[in-house]
Amino acid sequence: MTQSKSVARSVARETPTTGLVVAKFGGTSVADYPALLRCAHIIENNPMTRIVVVSAAAGVTNRLAALSAGIDEQAERQRLLSEIMDIQHRITAELKPRPEASAQLREYLVLMAQYSELIAEGAGDGGTPDALLALGERCSSLLLAELLQQRGVQARDFNACEVIRTDSHFGHAEPRPKRIGMLAREFLLPVIQDEVAVTQGFIGADAAMRTTTLGRGGSDYSAALFAEAVRAQSLEIWTDVDGIYTCDPRQVPKARPIAELTFAEAAEMATFGAKILHPATLLPAQRGAIPVFVGCSREPEKPGTWIRNQTASRPVCRALSVRRGQTLLTVRSLNMLHARGFLAELFATLARHRISVDLITTSEVSVALTLDPTGSHSSGRKLVTEALLADLKKLCDVSVEEGLALVAVIGHQLTSTPDVASRLFSMIGARNIRMVSHGASPNNLCFLVHEADASDVLQTLHRGFLENP
Ligand code: ASP
Ligand code: MG
Repeated sequence: MTQSKSVARSVARETPTTGLVVAKFGGTSVADYPALLRCAHIIENNPMTRIVVVSAAAGVTNRLAALSAGIDEQAERQRLLSEIMDIQHRITAELKPRPEASAQLREYLVLMAQYSELIAEGAGDGGTPDALLALGERCSSLLLAELLQQRGVQARDFNACEVIRTDSHFGHAEPRPKRIGMLAREFLLPVIQDEVAVTQGFIGADAAMRTTTLGRGGSDYSAALFAEAVRAQSLEIWTDVDGIYTCDPRQVPKARPIAELTFAEAAEMATFGAKILHPATLLPAQRGAIPVFVGCSREPEKPGTWIRNQTASRPVCRALSVRRGQTLLTVRSLNMLHARGFLAELFATLARHRISVDLITTSEVSVALTLDPTGSHSSGRKLVTEALLADLKKLCDVSVEEGLALVAVIGHQLTSTPDVASRLFSMIGARNIRMVSHGASPNNLCFLVHEADASDVLQTLHRGFLENP
């Protein structure tokens, strides 16, 4: 008995996975029935697509997040719950699910109401908000699997919690990639032998099988974890834009999709403001050397963008990005002259105030640094508080400038191409540059300008580096 079991397992472990594609569809790509139909077409067009990862329909997670924070007023809870129900019911009005799927959907909607109430009453436990949030993705995978089945595709709604094992840090759980690989071989590979597994992004379970979530926007991360676990040949991220652009098209109308870029460049772009992919998302794909495709589910025939370890092209400048609303802190102290430990003290003070530093340049007697609003307070309150200033003034003179924009040039060999900096600065001409950071990475060169100049600077650099390189 034991023997036959272990034989079965080893067969599962050797399941050939060559050519396997993992496709992930974001919230707008599963927002309504026509969108789900487009997903179905994309899946059906490639028989190698055996794992499909979905987000909650657009608008659902935002409402669940509000409910998961606890809403005392019953009428307000009810309003949010019925808006979520409307989104799902608009889909089912056209999809007409079979009775089992309808019953399952009803159960999810009832659970949403129950968990919301528990949280409002303070009666849930630490895991209740995650269990509530997970229901958005559960509705999506249920309905897409149902649609595929109706269209004659062998598909199954697969519970991501069977594979995505995480720690117990609710709201922002850390995945356990090794465990995920083992669980995928045991539970997922046998399923995709002859079925398409439609599963949920964003959610997982801890060792006690309590539902966890990976943090907002976490479904891309899930998709990359699944791709790594099954050693997929590629990961497709289907979204509402037709690729990653050379620059934000709202800022630079001539921006165009980039055919291919490296993981390193993609990570720089994400950090410097392109909101398409979170850098952490890419890690599992990069670890597994799995190429990632980013494309638009409305226009699947478009070329989109490929992200790979190595690209055939290696232009000096691949893209530009901008992050507005930057704060520059300049500190001066004569004690810095030949002193040791000044920077350590400065950083300790900033860390005590929970401020994360982004760029830094130093001179003999002063240090200029930009503050990163993302790693700091999420409440939106000002980064530089009176208390921080008072503490810093014990160490040094401080000045604070706001209204700055951080512009980043992203590409290759930026540290070893002789004329990049001179070309860049001559293009920018007379505009004031408040700070330059160059040299830490061959993949980026960035500088601060006044926000009012940012859009002009971007257009000029785009013309010079990306339109007529
Ligand atoms: N539905 C989740 C969110 O909106 C996860 C995702 O879509 O990536 O944050
Ligand atoms: Mg998303």
